[in-house]
Amino acid sequence: MFDELRVLALNLTWTWDPEIREVFQTLDPKLWEATRHNPIVMLSRLGPKGVERAAQKAAFAPALDRARAAVRRHLERHPPFYDAGAPLLIGYFSLEFGIAESLPIYSGGLGILAGDHLKASSDLNLPLVGVGLLYRWGFGRQKIDPGGNQTEYYAENIPDELPIRRVETGDGPLDVEAPIGAETVRIAVWRAQVGKVPLFLLDTDLESNPPHLRTITDRLYVPEPDRRLRQEIVLGIGGMRALRALGIAATVFHLNEGHSALVGVERIRELRRSRQLTFEEARLLARAGIVFTTHTPVAAGSDYFEAGLAWDLLGPYLQETGLSFERFMDLGREKPGDPRSLFCTTYLALRMADHSVGVSRLHGAVSRRIWKDAWPGLKEPQVPIGAITNGIHLPTWVADEIDSLLMEFVDAEWWDLAPGDNRWEGVEAIPAERLWDVHRSLRERLVEYACARAAPTPNLDPDALTIAFSRRFAPYKRATLMLSDRPRLKRLLASTTKPVQILYAGKAHPADQAGKALLREIVELAREETRVAFLEDYDIEIARHLVQGADVWLNNPRRFLEASGTSGMKAAANGVLNVSVLDGWWDEAYGPDVGWAIPSGATLDRQAADDEAEAEALFRALERQVIPTFYARDEAGRPQRWIAMMRASIKRLAPAYSARRMLLDYFTEAYAPAARRVEQLRVLPDWGG
Ligand SMILES: *Cc1c(COP(=O)(O)O)cnc(C)c1O
Repeated sequence: MFDELRVLALNLTWTWDPEIREVFQTLDPKLWEATRHNPIVMLSRLGPKGVERAAQKAAFAPALDRARAAVRRHLERHPPFYDAGAPLLIGYFSLEFGIAESLPIYSGGLGILAGDHLKASSDLNLPLVGVGLLYRWGFGRQKIDPGGNQTEYYAENIPDELPIRRVETGDGPLDVEAPIGAETVRIAVWRAQVGKVPLFLLDTDLESNPPHLRTITDRLYVPEPDRRLRQEIVLGIGGMRALRALGIAATVFHLNEGHSALVGVERIRELRRSRQLTFEEARLLARAGIVFTTHTPVAAGSDYFEAGLAWDLLGPYLQETGLSFERFMDLGREKPGDPRSLFCTTYLALRMADHSVGVSRLHGAVSRRIWKDAWPGLKEPQVPIGAITNGIHLPTWVADEIDSLLMEFVDAEWWDLAPGDNRWEGVEAIPAERLWDVHRSLRERLVEYACARAAPTPNLDPDALTIAFSRRFAPYKRATLMLSDRPRLKRLLASTTKPVQILYAGKAHPADQAGKALLREIVELAREETRVAFLEDYDIEIARHLVQGADVWLNNPRRFLEASGTSGMKAAANGVLNVSVLDGWWDEAYGPDVGWAIPSGATLDRQAADDEAEAEALFRALERQVIPTFYARDEAGRPQRWIAMMRASIKRLAPAYSARRMLLDYFTEAYAPAARRVEQLRVLPDWGG
């Protein structure tokens, strides 16, 4: 029994399949919560005897049967496979992966997107493997001190307590090497199993490494360029070597953000070693298989390294690769040949990839503008950066109760239906009372959760219009926009006939003093207003409660600074209505049938946001549209128009902004063409076999 449960725990399918998760919940509900949903820790605390004892309860055997059936279903499910027209195996590289709260190797949106990418690949049977880092102190936790200030601490990741295993070969645990200047770092390789997709995690904390190399994978997003570049060497170069050592012959390499751009250089080295190619030949061949996604909407958001640092850490390696240092620097410079220009990983990735995309249509346009110098002579519209809008893994983010409704009224595998499939019309058939009752119970669960966690305990009402604002506290996200008119805000919160309550969550970057000051304002607001709560330590678990239980998902960034945003997609799929500036994904998703737009005067050419006018527009939308629609009740006490909008949000936005749709876009626009290019070049006679 113990061993069977350990096998179940080690495959992270339980993070999105409620029937598998339920086995652990049923086994020991208290311990499940106390371990923050970590089945590995739970099993080791119980031990084999404790598990046998707990498994005696009547509910357990049927739960285990259901879980076994669910596992069989996943294994036997072979969705129609897509023919790329060439051998396809994708290596997907990312500095962070957000899969579960019990695997804290993520920070925020970028990591969760990467986690959702793996989960959806598993659902679709896409041949993909993930490569990332295993951090000893991965995830910066947030604590609010009595003065309302954010403090940070790091909880230690003990590998034995995580749902991962060390990769073994015939002769013991696998490790690989990467060059750090004149030294060599040894890298342990761990494996997390995300359904059918493996995720390989690299870890330098090995006794055989000297202390200064052991700490490379200490922490996520180290600010010092020196430490950051070491991590990128481990991810890019070490990651490629790990795939090779595992015998995984990836043909296509997807760089999720520029952190992994060194993959391209290592690919060139690999190709030159196996065949007699000049550097340029190898570069063209390597490039054919590289896909790059840029996530930042401002050039300063990417990594920059000084030449001296690059020389110190990469000089000997480049020599071995046959790449002159100046040529290497030029690949990462805004202006090749300019010795003052820093080395930028985004430029390197753009020049190494044959297909580059931004994460929404609007962000594609922004990216063509900020990175156009990589293609001197091209006019902005011709700059070859496209767009594939992000998506979310629906089974992970949609509440079990909404899932049940969709299984009943849409399809047993509703999450696998294409946008526009007419089975989505089934959403219209969900009776208003069923949808509203489910939504109310989710709101009530959120209110209970918030009251249990927030200090001081807020006075929240399970029937009041609940607005959620949870995101990183970066100044451009304008968390305090509504505080600019306190009396007006107070009026909304104080209404007895149409009460409104607001839940905030989010972290400021440890070094972001302006963000921390905004956070303090929100914490102080929550201390004064009982209908406002701040939930400390935003993570996947808090996000799940908020995106499932709120009524309104509020997003008011300065336009053009939110590349995509995915939390609004999670909300939309649960029938939570978005109220947002037309930025990122909402710029293309918005329609009056599914939510509200906060107008902004900013345009691509004049990206100045008018905070005052936009605050005014937000208040006006809330006062004149959102609140009246929510409180316009029929005789049965239900807001018919609101419910119609919830249905439209689920029906139209869930499939269009799903990770399934995103992956199929990547498949047709990026992965399959890349695989074909690689194949074409490979079979050219001059290039060897
Ligand atoms: C979805 C998610 C994010 C990203 O949300 P944005 O809309 O990009 O701000 C960040 N953190 C957590 C915990 C999430 O679940």
